Amino acid sequence: MIIRYNVQLQSYNSFRTKASARIFCEPRSAGELSEIIHTFPDERKLILGNGFNLFFTEDFDGLVIKPAIRGIRILSESDRFVEMEVGAAEDWDHFVAHCVDNGYAGIENLSLIPGSVGASPVQNIGAYGTEAMDVITKVKMVELQTGNYAAFSNEECGFGYRDSIFKRTGLYVITSVVFRLEKSFHYKEKYIDLSRELEGIPSPTLTQVRDAIIRIRTRKLPDYTLLPNAGSFFKNPVLRVEEKDQLQQKLPDAPIYNVGEGQFKTSAAFLIDKAGYKGKRRGMVGTYEHHSLIIVNYGTDNGREILDFMREVQHETQQQFGVMLEPEVRIY
Ligand SMILES: Cc1cc2nc3c(=O)[nH]c(=O)nc-3n(C[C@H](O)[C@H](O)[C@H](O)COP(=O)(O)OP(=O)(O)OC[C@H]3O[C@@H](n4cnc5c(N)ncnc54)[C@H](O)[C@@H]3O)c2cc1C
Repeated sequence: MIIRYNVQLQSYNSFRTKASARIFCEPRSAGELSEIIHTFPDERKLILGNGFNLFFTEDFDGLVIKPAIRGIRILSESDRFVEMEVGAAEDWDHFVAHCVDNGYAGIENLSLIPGSVGASPVQNIGAYGTEAMDVITKVKMVELQTGNYAAFSNEECGFGYRDSIFKRTGLYVITSVVFRLEKSFHYKEKYIDLSRELEGIPSPTLTQVRDAIIRIRTRKLPDYTLLPNAGSFFKNPVLRVEEKDQLQQKLPDAPIYNVGEGQFKTSAAFLIDKAGYKGKRRGMVGTYEHHSLIIVNYGTDNGREILDFMREVQHETQQQFGVMLEPEVRIY
């Protein structure tokens, strides 16, 4: 494995901010990964996928590990299900396309989410009523502190809304993910925008659903190659009942969804709009004019400008509505 020093990370994050990694490597197997952890036991470590959910605000004085473990293989198959193990470095949307082409159902609603398969359990990626946790049966990993191999069942991953044990602890490098997909498909309405897009098709196929999602996403989201961004910047806030009541007093038309266990979700985009930040720009950073939840980079390579803008939005929504927005994007 080649170990590189002082590597520029600008092309490794979709916000395109500049920072350099003192040490950088791309292990191609769990064995190489374990070896590199043993070679640099005392270095700070950062795991990089395809960089679509993070940006850098300063140089990283340590070891950046970008797993390069590939492969899609079938582990087991029955009349109803197929179980597949997929290497961390496989491109997520290529894997979705592969499943749709083969008639395997379960992740078609997650079409066109940019990133690697290895990162999909980290924030339990989700869209259009589907989350990665719905189809993951096992995650294989190497422990960052010891270099030992481990595997977690779905339950052990501690999945939540854009959350998992991997995100909470940062202690594991995911090497592969096992998915269980269905071999038959019947479209079930989970998301109104998607059903609208499929109007007139009585029984949509997997390919028609994937194509519809791709059309919606292409219309709604900025092209990160032209306007660098990391997708939704903030999580939708989850509120306790008192917080929800307080918000409804200030903003009676705030959308509120009961998510059970005395908790309520509201829309971060709605709060950002109401705080006066729809399409607002400060220097080279701002919210996307068609979708306030997305912060876009209009031309800086300095991650601190994005951080300052994030803090300003957080401060305003907190001051005006008493709700603290938590970033979904990871900041290093
Ligand atoms: C335009 C756009 C649209 C998006 N839409 C969605 C969406 O609809 N739904 C959604 O959920 N997300 C969305 N995202 C966010 C992003 O696509 C996902 O979070 C994706 O999983 C990031 O994958 P990545 O490989 O780029 O991860 P990175 O950004 O490289 O890493 C993200 C985090 O995961 C960790 N990580 C990465 N790989 C590993 C590994 N192998 N082992 C352990 N930790 C690892 C990193 O340390 C980091 O903390 C969007 C982003 C963009 C730019």
